[in-house]
Amino acid sequence: MQYPGNLFVVAAPSGAGKSSLVKALMELDTRVAPSISHTTRAPRGQELHGREYYFVSNETFDQMVIQNGFLEWAKVHGNRYGTSKHTIEQRMAQGADVVLEIDFQGAIQVKRIFPNAVLVFILPPSWEELRSRLERRAEDTAEVIEVRIQNASAEMAHAHEFDFVIINELFERALFDLKAIVHAQRLKFAAQRIARSDTFKALNIP
Ligand code: 5GP
Repeated sequence: MQYPGNLFVVAAPSGAGKSSLVKALMELDTRVAPSISHTTRAPRGQELHGREYYFVSNETFDQMVIQNGFLEWAKVHGNRYGTSKHTIEQRMAQGADVVLEIDFQGAIQVKRIFPNAVLVFILPPSWEELRSRLERRAEDTAEVIEVRIQNASAEMAHAHEFDFVIINELFERALFDLKAIVHAQRLKFAAQRIARSDTFKALNIP
């Protein structure tokens, strides 16, 4: 399948600052559209159905799996999360760049289906900083934080399967890095040939 939009996949252990970085990227760059995942976990804090996630029952999630409605799905921290095929294909066909904030299992599934997808892994600068960010977030219980720290090690063991790595030590620097990756992707020959087809034609570029 060949789509005009770019697909970015961002993964990180929880607490590395992935959501804040992606949110800041989208505020600066209206050509990047988010993908709202489906999850079987319960909403946290101020989260809203249809904004952070589509919060669905196990039965609804099962139905979507059976109907082949997910581009990818995975079990993370005991809950299931999935990216709806329909939304992604629609957005990319409209020429939007789509960013998926998913875990490493999902990222690897996406790369198999879309080899041109750009996989970005965000690392925290240290274990100490990761822990203190999780504690500061104060959204999870001490038990949940422990599970997330243990899972971080397993998640980070897959960083080498990604195309790019950003170390989120200084937020502004990490955001600059993420913007640079998005920008470089848009300058690739295949992307430019579609985005600037008139110029290419006029210049007789084969
Ligand atoms: P949280 O519960 O903290 O929002 O997310 C937990 C983990 O699930 C994060 O690593 C997040 O990126 C991942 N996740 C969220 N949506 C999806 C999805 O659609 N697919 C996959 N594979 N992982 C997801």
